[in-house]
Amino acid sequence: MAASKPVCKLVSHVIVDLDGTLLNTDSVANQILKSFLAKLGKKWDSKSAHRIVGRTPLEAAAAVVEDYQLPYSKEEFLSMITPLFADQWCNIRPLAGANRLIKHLRSNGVPMALASNSPKSNIEAKISCHNGWKESFSAIVGGDEVEDGKPSPNIFLEAAKRMNTEPSSCLVIEDSVAGVTAGNAAEMEVIAVPSIPKQVDKLSSASEVVNSLLDLQPEKWGLPQFEDWIEGTLPIEPWYIGGPVIKGFGRGSKVLGIPTANLSAESFSDILSEHTSGVYFGWAALFTRGIYKMVMNIGWNPYFANTEKTIEPWLLHEFDEDFYGEELRLAIIGYIKPEANFPSLESLIARIHEDGRIAEKALDLPLYAAYRDSPYLTNPLPESNS
Ligand code: ADP
Ligand code: MG
Repeated sequence: MAASKPVCKLVSHVIVDLDGTLLNTDSVANQILKSFLAKLGKKWDSKSAHRIVGRTPLEAAAAVVEDYQLPYSKEEFLSMITPLFADQWCNIRPLAGANRLIKHLRSNGVPMALASNSPKSNIEAKISCHNGWKESFSAIVGGDEVEDGKPSPNIFLEAAKRMNTEPSSCLVIEDSVAGVTAGNAAEMEVIAVPSIPKQVDKLSSASEVVNSLLDLQPEKWGLPQFEDWIEGTLPIEPWYIGGPVIKGFGRGSKVLGIPTANLSAESFSDILSEHTSGVYFGWAALFTRGIYKMVMNIGWNPYFANTEKTIEPWLLHEFDEDFYGEELRLAIIGYIKPEANFPSLESLIARIHEDGRIAEKALDLPLYAAYRDSPYLTNPLPESNS
């Protein structure tokens, strides 16, 4: 786990940010901005996303108007895109671990507030699409309810006040630089869960930086710990992807001695943006061959400094031949750990083998073994042909 300090101050209350922390708002925002700009003959560059993440709607609008030299004022632009966002509220998906975190804190009676730079009515519209979310928060503070949004501490101070507690009893969970700055300014403990991986350095003023909500260890702050890890693995809500095996970077088997059957990341950019980088495992089906145990890395492979997020499934089986072009289907059912960098190729290879052993063993547990029979894996016809 990245940059964790062992001793943390004990807290009793949690304040979470919404967009980019609990919800994958970026993915929907990217789609909306992309199609809006396309109509003006401009090309959305998702790399400018860092200028809008964690900002108030007007600040974000101002950044886009400036970056793309739009022929509108920031107010005009905001009024044009606001209805486009409102149509999409319920298409914004929870980020990995969001439902798990909310359920965990709620069932353990830990008071929780939601504090977002979005206007209160937008927050309520967004969370109403997710079962059990609204009732889990004892306070909800919107950017329109305080004088200044994040990075000012006001939103968090107001959230503490509405929970009848001191700022020093609160732990903030945030993805953005503005949010971490606000949490520090409110003199609260702050966990940063970066939604933009390259921003990690800018978040180092947080008490801890974790790769995703799946990696939280609330017991470090005196809060109840998660009880759902089993033999070094975390069961996740299963997700399924498949397609023809494509040529990857050509270094799986050549450099590492570990072949990875690549799927086209482009076809899964939405689902990938929802799932944090890291090491996962599950079952893999090749229709003409069988169903195999599988361990996979999702991410940027820090060791190789990829610029594109990729999916790298290693089937835990010796094959006599390559199977490029064949339909590969994956059921991803468990999480092992965040993606990490390694000092040497040898240590990277050793760790991948260890992950393989963890997956191999875990997949024999009835909880995980059951997914071997998923219809998605056993149905012999690719959906597109049926
Ligand atoms: P690439 O960069 O093209 O993916 P790799 O060196 O990673 O090349 O090799 C991956 C290919 O090796 C897969 O596409 C598949 O055809 C083959 N292969 C053989 N055994 C395995 C295995 N156990 N797991 C994954 N792929 C395998
Ligand atoms: Mg490969």
